[in-house]
Amino acid sequence: MDETSMWIGGAWTGASDGATGEVLDPSSGEVIANVPKATLADVDAAVAASRAAFEDRSWAAMDPAQRGRILQKMAAVTYAEAKNLATIESRNNGKTFREALSEIRYGAWTLEYFAGASDKIEGSTIPVPGNRLNYSLRQPLGVTAHIVPWNFPLQLALRSIAPALAAGCTVIAKPASWTPLSLLAWAKAIDEAETGLPSGVLQVITGSGGLIGDALAGHAGVDGIVLTGGVPTGKAVMAKASERLTPVTLELGGKGAHLVFPDADLRTAAKAVCFGIFMNAGQMCWAGSRLIVHEDVHDDLVEAIVAEIGKWPVGPGLSEGVRMGSLVHTSHRDEVLEKLNAGLAMGGEVVLGGAAMSDDHPAGAFMQPTVVTGVTEDNLLFTEELFGPVLAVTTFSEESEALRLANATEFGLLNGVWTQHLGRAHRLARDLQCGMVSINEYPITFPQTAFTGWKMSGIGVEQSLDALRFYTRVKNVNVKI
Ligand code: NAD
Repeated sequence: MDETSMWIGGAWTGASDGATGEVLDPSSGEVIANVPKATLADVDAAVAASRAAFEDRSWAAMDPAQRGRILQKMAAVTYAEAKNLATIESRNNGKTFREALSEIRYGAWTLEYFAGASDKIEGSTIPVPGNRLNYSLRQPLGVTAHIVPWNFPLQLALRSIAPALAAGCTVIAKPASWTPLSLLAWAKAIDEAETGLPSGVLQVITGSGGLIGDALAGHAGVDGIVLTGGVPTGKAVMAKASERLTPVTLELGGKGAHLVFPDADLRTAAKAVCFGIFMNAGQMCWAGSRLIVHEDVHDDLVEAIVAEIGKWPVGPGLSEGVRMGSLVHTSHRDEVLEKLNAGLAMGGEVVLGGAAMSDDHPAGAFMQPTVVTGVTEDNLLFTEELFGPVLAVTTFSEESEALRLANATEFGLLNGVWTQHLGRAHRLARDLQCGMVSINEYPITFPQTAFTGWKMSGIGVEQSLDALRFYTRVKNVNVKI
């Protein structure tokens, strides 16, 4: 398979020592590809090619409208290839084909959005005293390294590649070791489509985070690091980047809550709660993994959630009619179950699921959608990110208690509020300690809106025009006239 080479310096290549790693279909455990395991020499080669492409200014100094046109072509290729890419994504990650397809189209939309922004990155003129002209320029940051997780492998890669390219940066992307195939296949499609992207502007390198991600984070030739991943990885990358004061954008974990009030539309809320925790088998930073529900509507809502999830067939992501696929790997599934059981030892009652699905799928990474009620705020099911299909349910009686519970976590990514009361909705939107709040809908985001975490959920902004700030640096120019 061509997809099993890396894209470095405009060429498709294996690791310099020939090493490869196996890539699995997590629904069956079958090996579906062998992918290069890059060496440190390969990292140096990728950085050298990116630096050369940045410094020859063929991309950074290109008419920004032309850069935008190239990004539009890349978006068109992504839309055209979406079904192929979604098949690869579903097979490699375990998610359903439908989920994969909508994510890849979202990635294409992100490319379109930033294509339109590439010629609107403006500086300013500044009124200063005396006979002077003073202005600021926003210039491309340089070579940016993008370290991508396995849960939305292609979409999260495109989320940061698009603004970086729009700003005139050159890019090295590293997918997660479990899920490299969609990014490699996308890069191949871009290469073959002859979009006009100069050689070396975009590269894909494969290998482990501990070796290749770490080397990129500390590399003297890298000007910015973007990581989407777990909190421990965020700390490791930031520590490494601090050695050279390299700026970082970190999109890390979450422990999102739905706050459901008695005046909420419970049928809609039940569907959204299921969507927010069972989509992608709950492997989402912005999962609504906590349900904080008013005691008066607790029983009705839990009953509606259990009824709704009964309509979600679980199975291999490429099978017809499946609503929840496998988890990404049996080792990850086992970790989720281990945390679930440790949490249950602290309290709570399983009202749905709670186990692997080994009878139906002996070698697959499947797990039942799980709902646990009576979870107290000291329980790890309330505080820790399980990154699997586990909903923890807690009750409240007063609005102030709901707010306190929602904020009682080290994370601060997305929270949802379910109420018809306008004042309450906006009060909570103001007081929730997180980067995103959604009222009467969950989860939802758009390329043009900020995706950003507070507290341990991260540093910096993805999506929206705010994301472009990271990929540019400001230069002030003073002219005595
Ligand atoms: P992970 O942290 O294990 O890996 C993420 C990436 O970092 C992978 O490419 C991995 O190879 C690399 N990596 C690992 N160790 C590294 C190191 N020491 N130095 C440099 N790179 C290293 O995360 P994951 O398990 O792939 O994804 C799950 C995590 O990602 C969850 O915590 C989830 O909440 C988070 N996530 C956050 C967002 C967001 O936008 N906030 C989105 C998706 C996932």
